[in-house]
Amino acid sequence: MSTTELGGLTDIQQMMVETVRDFANKELLPQAIEIDRERRFPIESFKKMAELGLLGLPIPEEFEGAGVDTQTAVLVIEELAKVCGSTALGVAAHTSLCTWPIYAFGTDEQRAKYVPDLASGRKLGAFGLTEANAGSDSGGTQTRAVQDGDHWVLNGSKIFITNANYAGTFIATAVTDKSKGTRGGITSFIVERDTPGFEIHKGDEKLGMRGSDWGELTFVDCRIPANQVLGEVGAGFPNFMKTLDGGRVGIAALSLGLAEGAYERSLAYAKEREAFGKPIAKKQAVAFKLADMAVQIEAARALIRNAAQLKDAQQPYTTQAAMAKLFASEMAMRVTFDAIQVHGGYGFTNEYHVERMWRDAKLCTIGEGTSEIQRIVISREILSNHE
Ligand SMILES: Cc1cc2nc3c(=O)[nH]c(=O)nc-3n(C[C@H](O)[C@H](O)[C@H](O)COP(=O)(O)OP(=O)(O)OC[C@H]3O[C@@H](n4cnc5c(N)ncnc54)[C@H](O)[C@@H]3O)c2cc1C
Repeated sequence: MSTTELGGLTDIQQMMVETVRDFANKELLPQAIEIDRERRFPIESFKKMAELGLLGLPIPEEFEGAGVDTQTAVLVIEELAKVCGSTALGVAAHTSLCTWPIYAFGTDEQRAKYVPDLASGRKLGAFGLTEANAGSDSGGTQTRAVQDGDHWVLNGSKIFITNANYAGTFIATAVTDKSKGTRGGITSFIVERDTPGFEIHKGDEKLGMRGSDWGELTFVDCRIPANQVLGEVGAGFPNFMKTLDGGRVGIAALSLGLAEGAYERSLAYAKEREAFGKPIAKKQAVAFKLADMAVQIEAARALIRNAAQLKDAQQPYTTQAAMAKLFASEMAMRVTFDAIQVHGGYGFTNEYHVERMWRDAKLCTIGEGTSEIQRIVISREILSNHE
C-alpha cells in the first residue's frame, strides 16, 4: 500500500492524486532516467501538465488556475516527486516562486496581464533572487535598480535560477535604496524574457535535479517599465520572505515524494530479492530499515499537512514551514540513502532510480533556504517565545 492512502483525503484530493499518479507513471517514469542522464528539460511534459491544469494549482479559476488549496497543491508536488524530482522542482518553482507572488503582491493590472498566462502554463515562470555573493544572505543583493523617468534601469546578475532558459516571465530582485537595507531598500521587478539588456545563460553541470533547467540571468542597463515593479517599491524583502514560506512547504512536499518513491521501490525490491534462500525483507536488518523509512515519511507528512493547513487558514506558518522543510529534506536524504543500501549493488546503478532520488534530495536541503537557515528561523521563534 502506498503511504499516501493512509491520510484520509477529500474526494477532490483523491481524484487529483490519482490523476497525477497516472500521469507521472505513464509520462514521467519512462523518461526520468534519461532526462537526468542527458540533463534534458522535459518541455513536452510541461505542456501536458498545463493541459491537466497542474501549472496554476493554487491560483483561482478566474485567473486560469485550478483554484485548489495548499493542502491539495502539495499532494500534486509529492506525487510528481515520487517519480521525477526534476519535474516536481520545475512545477514548484514556476508556481510558488513566480506565479503565486505576482497573484499575491501584484497590482490588478499585473495580475490580469501576467497571471493567466502563467497559471494556464502558456508561459513558464522563474524567480531570480540568488546572486554569486548573496544566497542565504539574500539581503546582501548587489543587483541595482535606478529610477530613470518612468523606467527602472537594472544592472547585475543572478545565479542558479530554476526554469531560466524556458521561462517567459521572471521576478528579479534588486536594491533600489541601499541606505534602507532589507527594510525598504529591495524591490522585486517583473521582467519579460525579451527585454533588451536582459540575458539568460545556461547553468553549470549539477549533482541532482539534472532534468530541471537552471541558468544565470544578467542585466546590463536593462530598462524595466515602472509599472512592472511587483507590488510597491521597497517591498521586495518582506514579500520574498512570504514567498519563501510557501515555497518551503512545496520543497518539503517534494522531499516527501522523493522519500516515498525510494521507500516504495525498496519495499517492493526487498520482497522480491532473495539472499540466503529468502526474500531480504525477511531479514530483520532490512525490515527495520523499511520500518524506519515508513515512520519518518509519516512524520514528515504530518509536519507538511500542519504547515499547509495553517497557510490555508491564513494563520502565521513561517516556523511550521521551516520545520516541515528542515525535517522532510533531511529525512529524504536519510531514506533515499538507505534505499540504495536495501538495493545493494543494483542501487548503485542508475537503473533502479534510487541513486537519482538521493542526488535529487540533496537539493532540498539547500534550495529556498538551507537547513541551517531553517534552524535559524525555528530557533529565533522558539527563543523569542521564552524571553
Ligand atoms: C538546484 C537549485 C535550484 C535553485 N533555484 C533557485 C531559484 O530558482 N531562484 C533563486 O533565486 N535561487 C535558486 N537557488 C539558489 C538557492 O536558493 C541557494 O543556493 C541557497 O539559498 C543557498 O545560498 P548559497 O548557495 O549562496 O549558499 P551560502 O549562503 O553561501 O551558504 C553556504 C553554507 O553556509 C551556510 N550559512 C550561510 N549563512 C549562514 C548562517 N547565518 N548561519 C549558519 N550557516 C550559514 C549555509 O547554510 C550553507 O551551508 C537554487 C539552488 C539550487 C542548488
